[in-house]
Amino acid sequence: SSKNRVVARKLSLPETEKTGNRVTVFVRVRPISKKEKEAGSRCCVRIVNPRDVYLTEFVNPNDYLRLKRIRGRHFTFDACFPDSATQQEVYSTSTSELVEGVLQGRNGTVFCYGATGAGKTYTMLGTVESPGVMVLAIKDLFRKIKTRSCDGNHAVHLSYLEVYNETVRDLISPGRSLVLREDKQGIVAAGLTQYRVYSTDEVMTLLQQGNHNRTTEPTCANETSSRSHAVLQVVVEYQVRDAAMNIINSVGKLSLVDLAGSERALATDQRTLRSLEGANINRSLLALSCCINALVDGKKHIPYRNSKLTQLLKDSLGGTCSTVMIASISPSNLSSGETQNTLHWADRAKEIRTKANDANEDLFPVTETGTDQAKLVLELQKENH
Ligand code: ADP
Ligand code: MG
Repeated sequence: SSKNRVVARKLSLPETEKTGNRVTVFVRVRPISKKEKEAGSRCCVRIVNPRDVYLTEFVNPNDYLRLKRIRGRHFTFDACFPDSATQQEVYSTSTSELVEGVLQGRNGTVFCYGATGAGKTYTMLGTVESPGVMVLAIKDLFRKIKTRSCDGNHAVHLSYLEVYNETVRDLISPGRSLVLREDKQGIVAAGLTQYRVYSTDEVMTLLQQGNHNRTTEPTCANETSSRSHAVLQVVVEYQVRDAAMNIINSVGKLSLVDLAGSERALATDQRTLRSLEGANINRSLLALSCCINALVDGKKHIPYRNSKLTQLLKDSLGGTCSTVMIASISPSNLSSGETQNTLHWADRAKEIRTKANDANEDLFPVTETGTDQAKLVLELQKENH
């Protein structure tokens, strides 16, 4: 598959597009797995150039035989990463610019979205040999603040938590669920560990331990954490001199989110615990897309309060904050339904950004009422069809 190696490179955008809130959207295809190969699967995803991905849609096998042709669709993103893309390439293209913003005192958030097994945790955390975006971002932060801080003083603090079934838990010091409280700094999880790190080396171990503490799937032991959202927040503080040589304190927050598997976003049966979990995941993912929608449309009211995830990210979405979405997909036709959903969702996230620059658009005030909830459900249905 990597015969014609495509190197993803983010194209520089016209200056007008650089202003305001821009959600940049990326897609990463993981290599086909042994299990998928053994099941006789074919590849249904092709990266045709650094920005375009082509998905073959196997609608219905009978239709396919009758029509004697395969339907497909092209999607365009800020960049598409083929299965040969390295962790470093993914980091540099998708997230390094955002990390630069954090060093300039802006908040930034990276989300990884996709079905269970599509490669979200590999992209965000990675392995000791191939660290992912979380670790590479912290490495980059350390490297840059060391050269930039004017007095050599700097502090990097981490917190790592999960949102599972609308409950918040500390992944560094696991224990009881945490209560969200509003204080001067915004919404905080009361009692959450703020772990000070001094080097990149200790970060991977810490995060791997944290990931181990994530709530795992009760029935499918090898597919872990598909229902929990893992949120890593990194606060960077250092001192710089401004143009007048005054010392100023620069504080920036970087949030890196390994979202729950998107395949359960449509569970609606409330009768069992499992479907309750499904409904709650749907709630957080949905609330997230609604907030992003509202932010980029320039709406006055942003419905952060609709889920724990969006409450936690209140100061990390919108304002001067930058947002990156990375959609993870499998290349196998056995997952083409999930892939299609993921690409449609990512495609919509990308279109939202274009709307932000349309000054003539009418804006509707959003209120937190029953109608708002109904809108949420409609959004969900749109997303999945
Ligand atoms: P998710 O977190 O979306 O459920 P994982 O990140 O756990 O999925 O990926 C599933 C499996 O595929 C893991 O064994 C992981 O190591 C492997 N994998 C995912 N992406 C890649 C990649 N880009 N290169 C190599 N292996 C990958
Ligand atoms: Mg995972």
